[in-house]
Amino acid sequence: MAKSPNRESFDKIFEKLREHHKWFENSIPLIASENIPSPAVRETMISDFGNRYAEGWPGERVYAGCTYIDDVEFECMRLAKRLYRAEFADVRPISGVVANLAVYSGFTSPGDVMIAPSIPAGGHISHGKREHHGTAGLVHGLEIEFYPFDAQEMTIDVDKTKQKVKDLKEAGRLPKMAMFGGSLFLFPHPLKELGDFLKGYDIHINYDAAHVAGLIAGRKFQDPLREGADTVTMSTHKTLFGPQGGLVLSSKEHEETIKKAVFPGTTSSHHIHHMAGKAVAFAEALEFGRDYATEVIRNAKALAEALSDIGFKVLGESRGFTESHQIAVNVLEYSDGGKVEADLEKANIIVNRQLIPGDIKAGRNYFHPGGIRLGVSEITRLGMKRDEMQEIASYIGKVIIDKKDPNNILSKVRSFRKDYQRVKFCFESSLGAYEYVKLG
Ligand SMILES: *Cc1c(COP(=O)(O)O)cnc(C)c1O
Repeated sequence: MAKSPNRESFDKIFEKLREHHKWFENSIPLIASENIPSPAVRETMISDFGNRYAEGWPGERVYAGCTYIDDVEFECMRLAKRLYRAEFADVRPISGVVANLAVYSGFTSPGDVMIAPSIPAGGHISHGKREHHGTAGLVHGLEIEFYPFDAQEMTIDVDKTKQKVKDLKEAGRLPKMAMFGGSLFLFPHPLKELGDFLKGYDIHINYDAAHVAGLIAGRKFQDPLREGADTVTMSTHKTLFGPQGGLVLSSKEHEETIKKAVFPGTTSSHHIHHMAGKAVAFAEALEFGRDYATEVIRNAKALAEALSDIGFKVLGESRGFTESHQIAVNVLEYSDGGKVEADLEKANIIVNRQLIPGDIKAGRNYFHPGGIRLGVSEITRLGMKRDEMQEIASYIGKVIIDKKDPNNILSKVRSFRKDYQRVKFCFESSLGAYEYVKLG
């Protein structure tokens, strides 16, 4: 009998899912905001927790049926606090954007000013202006001012920022919140240098650790809670061991404000399976996080050096290219970030185009920016080391500098990938990293 159109759609979805898994098994995934979770984290994702509601705080839920959920959530909070040495952790925000929104709601009012990095200077759209549809401006009505940025040093300019804050105060636009952290994030931000100054003006400091959460957990990046941040927001799946989700950290002082801003302010169901997955990821980060973060940063430096050696213009050269999991490359000599992204994808090398300092002034936009951004978290989690970074740099060079047909590089990438099919830095890894799990 012929299949109904519904059944055809149904089958097609699973066909695409399986194709995606196969593709990633054969690719070099270099998106800096992505990572690969352990099989244990994936197991939490398919558990019945994902079908339940547990609104509110564990022990004080709005519905019955939360006995085991509460146990896991208490454990999850204990692990988060231990991992980040924080007095308070709210593990409920369902993503990094929602964590930021909770902090905006808790500590500012619409019309207040926030100072944050601009997007070419590494900022995230959730820190953005209303006219750019940024979350801070569009959803919470914040007015956004940008930090002065030093494109040579690839970080916030301390002296110019101090001057800007003084000028803003003069103009009656003193920021209520200062946002640190970003999406293009090569070097630690000057939190220690600016913290006391900002506090002198009673400015709330939030550090958005979405990208570097796994490096902070491994104690290999700046520690925002020790350097003066009042609150820390993050995604749990970029350098950290995932699942996708968010987290807010603070001292005891801000506990009640954050709790209310998260629920009922910005979540109803907090995606309980993801909460369980975060608990597993935190346990893995406590156990394996230091070794992992050390390897990530070594790999990022090695890949940056290898790319620079073959002729690429890698940003941050004067400072050794990177202190994080990321590398940024100016590709304008060859074409633009959009074209480079597309050419590399044909060779199964997955990167993203990136606005870099100077792009907006030069009239370039997000579709054709001057740069690409690479991240090494996922390939590090798969067990790749320094030799593999050399190899990857040479594939990228062949496609972009030598302009070889990406199809010819594709077969090399596929055979290179064969040996890296398990997730490392986790307790158990019996399932292939991209193995498709069929339940139905
Ligand atoms: C990715 C990112 C976010 C958003 O996180 P989601 O978990 O995708 O909502 C927020 N802030 C920064 C700096 C990011 O890079």
